[in-house]
Amino acid sequence: MSLLQVARMGNPVLRQVAAPVEAAEIRTRAFQVFCDDLYDTMLEEDGLGLAAPQVHHSQRVVVFQLEAEEEPMFLINPVIVPLSETKAWGYEGCLSVPELRGRVERWVDIRVDALDRKGKPFAFEAHGWAARVVQHECDHLDGVLYVDRAQVGSLAFLKEYRRYGPPIKGPEAEDDGEE
Ligand code: ZN
Repeated sequence: MSLLQVARMGNPVLRQVAAPVEAAEIRTRAFQVFCDDLYDTMLEEDGLGLAAPQVHHSQRVVVFQLEAEEEPMFLINPVIVPLSETKAWGYEGCLSVPELRGRVERWVDIRVDALDRKGKPFAFEAHGWAARVVQHECDHLDGVLYVDRAQVGSLAFLKEYRRYGPPIKGPEAEDDGEE
């Protein structure tokens, strides 16, 4: 296992559109090792999710794990389709934008089509918080950071966020996840 270095906002790798992964590459040992390293880095950094560009690797790969007892889910070349018109605001954090929180509007119901880490196509639906995490991670593949989408006036440093609460209050559940 090796831990990878997380790129922080300002690093150009976070602003690139990441390249799709070729099907033939997925089964290579190098790619499988990268998936393990991406996941291990996410755990080490206490993240809920991590996208390959966040570790200086501009390919369309993300991993996330919402519950410790669940298996991590790898999405390769993911495509998101909203399933309803419903959107919701919620606070997000990002390992590439440390110590900050901001309020972002996301689709509530999505369908995701992707390849798994064995290269097999699969699809699933995600709702609410899970849908938010997937959208946040997949934005990284297009060079988009949550702060680009954050509501003006909602950004807060983590210490102040915890001390004073969210600057713009809404009905959303509070969360301290880093993605
Ligand atoms: Zn992020």
